[in-house]
Formats: sequence, C-alpha cells, structure tokens
Amino acid sequence: MAPCSGACTLLHISWMSGGDMAKPLLGHRSTEGDCSAAPPGGRTVGVLGSGDFARSLAVRLVCSGFKVLVGSRNPKRKASLFPAAAEVTFQAEAVKKADVIFVAIFREHYSTLCDLADVLVGKILVDVSNNTEINHHKESNAEYLASLFPACTVVKGFNVVSAWTLQSGARDGNKQVLICSNNQEAKRTVAEIAQAMGFTPVDMGCMSSAREIENIPLRLLPAWKIPIFLALGLFICFFTYNLVRQVIHPYIREQKNKLYKIPIEVVNTTLPCVSYVMLSLVYLPGVLAACSQLYYGTKYRRFPDWLDQWLQHRKQIGLLSFFCAALHAVYSLCLPMRRSHRYLLIETAVKQAVEKRMTIWVEEEVWRMEIYISVGIIALGLLSLLAITSLPSIANSLNWREFSFIQSSLGFVALVISTLHTLTYGWSRAFDENQYKFYLPPTYTLTLLVPCTVIIAKVIFSLPCIQHRLLRIRRGWEKGRYVKFVLPSATGEFSSGETSSNV
Ligand code: NAP
Repeated sequence: MAPCSGACTLLHISWMSGGDMAKPLLGHRSTEGDCSAAPPGGRTVGVLGSGDFARSLAVRLVCSGFKVLVGSRNPKRKASLFPAAAEVTFQAEAVKKADVIFVAIFREHYSTLCDLADVLVGKILVDVSNNTEINHHKESNAEYLASLFPACTVVKGFNVVSAWTLQSGARDGNKQVLICSNNQEAKRTVAEIAQAMGFTPVDMGCMSSAREIENIPLRLLPAWKIPIFLALGLFICFFTYNLVRQVIHPYIREQKNKLYKIPIEVVNTTLPCVSYVMLSLVYLPGVLAACSQLYYGTKYRRFPDWLDQWLQHRKQIGLLSFFCAALHAVYSLCLPMRRSHRYLLIETAVKQAVEKRMTIWVEEEVWRMEIYISVGIIALGLLSLLAITSLPSIANSLNWREFSFIQSSLGFVALVISTLHTLTYGWSRAFDENQYKFYLPPTYTLTLLVPCTVIIAKVIFSLPCIQHRLLRIRRGWEKGRYVKFVLPSATGEFSSGETSSNV
C-alpha cells in the first residue's frame, strides 16, 4: 500500500474559506431533477453509475455549479433520469473528460470497470460505496478499488451521506462528509468539491481509515447500546417488583384478581422509577470522579474504564430518563380514562351513599396531591429543557458556561425536584406496615437510594473546604507536588499564591 501522507487523526478541514453552506440548497423543483437554473461550468466532475446515489449526486453537483458527466452502460435509457444540465454518456466518454470521478456503483461491479483502466490513468476516483455488513471484506472497498486501479488516486468519501441528503441539501441531513486518502492533494480536491456542495469535509487521514468510514453507516446506535440495556434492565427489575406488590400479593393473600393493572398501572409505576434512577445515574459518575480526584489529590490520574464509559454515556442516559418521564406523564393523564377507574369511582360513591357519608375530603391528601403533581410538572419541564439543549444544533448555539449551567446546575435542580415529587408521592407510606407486601418496602423507597446519595454527595462537595480543594485539583494542583496556582476568590476575582501538598 502507498505510504500514508496524511495525519490519521480526526481533523476538521479548514482549507477553504467561506461558510460551509455558501451554496444555495436545492429547491423544491431541484429535487425532481430540474436544476437548469444553476450555472454550469467550473470543474468538470464525472459520475460512474446511474442509480439512486449517482442521480442525487449529479443533481447536487449541477446545482453547485459543476459540469457533470454521467457514465452509464446504457446512457440512452438513463438520460431522462438526470437533470438536463448533466451530460449522460458512455462510461469511457465520461471518464475521459473529467479529472475527478465519483464511482457510484457497488463494490462487486468494480471489476467491470477494468476495461477503463487506460483512460483512468492519473484520475482521482472517489469511492462512495458502503457494505451490507460491518467488516464485510478483508480490505475496505476503497483499498480494493485502489488495488484494481494502481495508476489512479483513490479518495474515500461521501458514503456517510445518503442519496436523500444529497437531494434535499445538507441543511436537512448530516452535513459532514468524512474523507480519507493517501494523497493529500487529491483529498484537498475532493474536500473542495464537498465544501462547494454545502457539506463539511472532515479529514480522516490516510486510506487505512476507509474501513472505519465504511463501518459508520452500518452501526446501529453505538452510543445507545449501554444506556438502552441499562434502562431495560432497570425496567425489568422495577416492573417485576411492582408486579409482585400490586398483582401477585393481592392474589395470594386475598385471592383478588388484579391482572388488569399490568398494562397501565404497573407500567406507570415502573416508568417513573426508571426515569428517576436514570437521572441520578447521569450525575453519579461525576460524583465518583470527584471522589477519585479528592482521594488521589490529582486530576491527572486516569479514571477506570467503566467510569470513563459511564461518563461518556451520560447524555444518552439523560435522554432515556426524559423519555421515561414523558411516557409516565402520558400514562398518568390516561389513568382516569380506564373502565376500572370509573367502576372503582362509582363503587366508592355507592359505598359512601350507603354509609350516608356526605364528604370524603381529606385535607392532607388534597395538599399532597396538589404538590405532587405540581413538582412533577416542573421536573418534567426541566428534563425537557435538558433534553432539548443536549441536541447538537442547540448545544452548538450555547457557550460553555450556558451549556454547563443548564446541564449541570439545572440538571441537579431537576434531580432535587424529582426527589420532592417522589417524596410527596410516598408521603408516610414508608412508615405504614400495610405497605410492606411480602416484607417488600414500597418501590419509591428503593428508588430514593441512588438519587439521595448523589444529592448528599453534591451537598458535601459544596462545603467550602471540599469545594476549594476540588477546584484546586481541577486547576492542576496535585497532592505531593509544589506548584504555583491561581484560584478565583469568593468574590469571583482571581488570587494567586504558592502552595505545597500539605496546605
Ligand atoms: P443502484 O441504484 O443500484 O445503482 C448502481 C448503478 O451501478 C447502476 O445504476 C448501474 O448504472 C451501475 N453499474 C455499473 N456497472 C454495473 C454492473 N456491472 N452491474 C450493475 N450495475 C452496474 O445503487 P445506488 O443506491 O445508487 O448505490 C451506488 C453506490 O453508492 C453503492 O456503492 C452504494 O453503497 C453507495 N451509496 C449509496 C447510498 C444511497 O443512499 N443510495 C448512500 C451512500 C453510498 P448503469 O446501468 O447506468 O451503468
């Protein structure tokens, strides 16, 4: 393989000036292949293939001001599928006139292009292909193409963009185009084309990255696997616990059939448990990280892998917490719609009439429910805010302080308010022995364990002596080392001084 000439780190390409969306996006008409209004000219680009991807690519290239030559095995039949400004011709003809050629055909048909080897000499081939499985072949498609055409320069790119994104414009889809090649100049040329089309080129280094780039579109929510399994695990545990308490216990002890509770009531008591515990799991790794930093007196010691992984998945865990909370809100609103609820209500009314009781108003219960619902709504509102601001488009519009204020401070407030919501729900049930079914405590008492640990830890960390030490550690101070440090004072001004580990 040719020697690697590019840096293999993920590096945002900044070769080109101007906004990345400088070119107008395709209008409504252009999605139907009519881009005749765009000025042709500029660089001539070839496209091999006349399928979905080739068509979308040609439309977008034409709209971005490129002269497009489409190479097809059957140009006559395919010409009507392309915009009038694109020239549809035989493969050899298209390849002859263009320096950069997008190979928009599947890997298994690459060998059929070998007849074109002579006309392809010295050209840049852009491999846009994807596989059907992760690590399907020994070498990447781009490396395979390069091995078939050693006299060409192959650049991997555009495979993470779908035909739909190409048609609708980068504004409606993924804006990033990952590019790699062993030839810097060829990579720069393709990056310029991507930029002119309204995409953001990202330099992924040399050709050995092609395999990784080809795997990206095939990965199914890689960052979500652990959080989803965590949420499912918690759901199954709490669901089983609630099922035992709400359905199995009355059946065994009183021969009462409460199976009807399973689809809504049991699910609805499980969802807030999952949501609440998941929310606390967003903040627990931060607490553990702070404990580790305080214990070792440095921020330069690597966290264990599991903690690192946990810290990286906080966003997904938080979003799943919000998802469960939103479902809980909808389920709760639907509770009065159930037949069982109406029958029980009527039964209570009849009993009351038989007993000649005029009112069943319990002041304490009324207040409990008012507060419980109110703090629940506030908690859901805050969780919605956290979820919205974690979206990349919103997060990018916030500066670091705004982002950390919302995600860290307001997130912690959401946890405290959720705790109030849980406490007002439970009220005095923890002290009522009838609530201990099969000696199992009410579910809400279990859910309080982790969140309360986090809240107490956060309160302890906010004590001036601990907060001060943590702040110093996070600014580079290390136990056992004599360093100069600069710290903000209580008034927000910075004070400087010298200290040693013993201070
Ligand atoms: P497609 O609709 O099946 O088109 C493939 C084209 O390959 C055909 O139209 C055909 O055009 C051409 N071709 C050349 N030699 C061929 C041969 N021997 N046998 C069959 N066809 C041959 O596929 P596509 O969806 O456009 O995908 C094309 C490439 O783009 C693939 O590598 C795919 O992985 C990649 N890609 C596609 C998307 C997407 O959203 N569709 C996204 C990213 C990457 P002629 O008959 O005119 O020669």
